[in-house]
Amino acid sequence: MTVGGYINGQWIEANDRDRFEVVNPAIGELLAQVPFMGAEEATLAIESGRAAMDGFVPDLQTRKQWLNGIAEHLLAGSESLAQTITQEQGKPIKESRAEVEYAASFFFDVAQRLAILNPKELPQPARGCTWTVHHRPAGVVGLITPWNFPLAMLAKKLASALGAGCASVLKPSELTPLSAMALVGICDHLGVPRGFVNLVFGDAKAIGEVLCTHPAVRIISFTGSTQVGKLLATQAGPHVKRVALELGGSAPFIVFDDADLDLSAEALIQSKFRAAGQTCVCADRILVDARVHDAFVAKVRPRVAALRCGNGMQEAADLGPLINLEGWNKVDRHVRDALRHGATRVVGDEVPQPPIDSATFYPPTLLTGITKEMMICREETFGPVLAVRRFETEAEAVHIANETEYGLAAYIMSGNESRVVRVTAKLVFGHVAVNSGTGPAAHAPFGGMKHSGYGREGGDEGLLEFTEPQVVALRR
Ligand code: NAP
Repeated sequence: MTVGGYINGQWIEANDRDRFEVVNPAIGELLAQVPFMGAEEATLAIESGRAAMDGFVPDLQTRKQWLNGIAEHLLAGSESLAQTITQEQGKPIKESRAEVEYAASFFFDVAQRLAILNPKELPQPARGCTWTVHHRPAGVVGLITPWNFPLAMLAKKLASALGAGCASVLKPSELTPLSAMALVGICDHLGVPRGFVNLVFGDAKAIGEVLCTHPAVRIISFTGSTQVGKLLATQAGPHVKRVALELGGSAPFIVFDDADLDLSAEALIQSKFRAAGQTCVCADRILVDARVHDAFVAKVRPRVAALRCGNGMQEAADLGPLINLEGWNKVDRHVRDALRHGATRVVGDEVPQPPIDSATFYPPTLLTGITKEMMICREETFGPVLAVRRFETEAEAVHIANETEYGLAAYIMSGNESRVVRVTAKLVFGHVAVNSGTGPAAHAPFGGMKHSGYGREGGDEGLLEFTEPQVVALRR
C-alpha cells in the first residue's frame, strides 16, 4: 500500500514535508508516518475535483463499472484490508472482516440502484411543455469521517458520491488514515479518472474550513461528533452549501416484560460491544421492565463476564482497546460517576488500571441501578459499559428513551406486536431495530433526528443526497 495523500491522481507528500505518526492502539507500535496536510493541499484537492468535473459527466454505465470494480477489489483484498483496520483502529479481526464486507456492500448497492438517476419525464404535461427531472451531480463534495469504522464510513459516502457523478475530497480521521489509503489505492488501480477521488488528512480544522468555504464544494458530508458537526454547519451556512451530518447517538435498548430474554441478551451483547462500544449505534441506555430486570441481568451477566479483551489481531479477542487515552478516561469517568451516584458494578474490575504506553483496554463492565442524573445517561459513553436502568410502565420507557438530545438508533425487545407498533411510532430515532441488535445496512436509508444530524446514507435517499434535481420544461 502506498502511504501518502492523493491529489489529482498522484500520491503526494505534504507541501512542507511534515508528517504525523499512526500508531496501533493495542500495542503502541508505529504503523506509518503520514503527510500532515492543511489548507493548501485541501485547496489543490478541491481544484483537482473541479477540473475533473469540468465538462465531463461519467455515464451511468461507467459509474456502475467503477462501483462494482471497487466492491470486487475490496472483497478480493479483504484479509489484508481487515488487518489494516485492526492495526490502526484496534477492533478484533473478525469485526474488521465484517467491516470490509459492509464497505463493499455500499458500492454493490449503489451500482444496482443507479437507474433512479435516469431522467424522468413527468406524466402530466403542463403549460404546453413536457417536464423532465434530471439528477445532476451536485459538484465537488467533501467527505469527512471518524476513526471507528475507518473503511466503512468512507465507503458509504464515496459510493454515493461516485454513483452521483461527483468528485470527492476525502478527509478521514488522523487516527486511522491507512484504510482510506487502501480504498483510494483501489480507485487508482481501477483507473478512476484523476481528480475524481482525492485524499487529504492532517490539520482537520484548516481542511474543514477550506471545504466549508471554497465555492467549488457543494456538499459536506460529515460523520463524527455533534460538536464538530455543528461547527461545520455554521461554517458552511453563509456559503449556502448543503451539509449532511451523521452525528453522535445515545441509543436506548428497551426490554419489555414480554420479550424473549435470551434473544434480548444476545442482541444486546452484539450491539453494545462491537468496536468495544465505540459505535454511534451502540446500545447505550439499557431500559429494562422492573418485572424482568433481575432475570434479564442474570442472562446478561455471564455473557459480559465471558468477553475477552485483547490485541485484535488474535482471533480469540472479542474486544480491542479503546482508540486512545482520552476515550479511556471518558469511559472511566462515566463509570466512576455512576458508582458515586449509587450504581452497582455487577461485572468489571474494581479499579480498572489506567493504560501504560497505549494498550487502552477497558474491562467489559455491567452496571445496574442507573438513574437519570448520572453522566452515563446524558452523554455518549463510547466504551464497553452496559448501564441498566429500570422502568415500571411502557409510557415511562418511551419517555426515558426520548429524554436525550440524540435521535440516531433505538432498540425494542418485545413479543407483543401491537406494543412494538405503538412504541416505535413514539420513538424519535432514525433507526429502530426490533428484537434485533442490528445497525444500518447499505440498502436502507440511515441517519439521525434531533442533534444526531440530518441527511441520510444508504438506499435511494443516500444516493440522491449527492445530486441536484434539475427540471427541464420543454415546448415541442
Ligand atoms: P470527531 O472528533 O468529530 O471527528 C470526526 C472527523 O472530523 C475526523 O476526521 C476529524 O479529524 C474531523 N474533524 C475534527 N475537527 C474538525 C474540524 N474543526 N473541522 C473539520 N473536521 C474536523 O469525532 P470522532 O471522535 O472521530 O468520532 C466519534 C463520533 O462520531 C461519535 O460522536 C460518534 O457517535 C460519531 N459517529 C456517528 C456516526 C453516525 O453515523 N451518525 C457513525 C460513526 C461515528 P481528526 O480525527 O483528524 O481530528
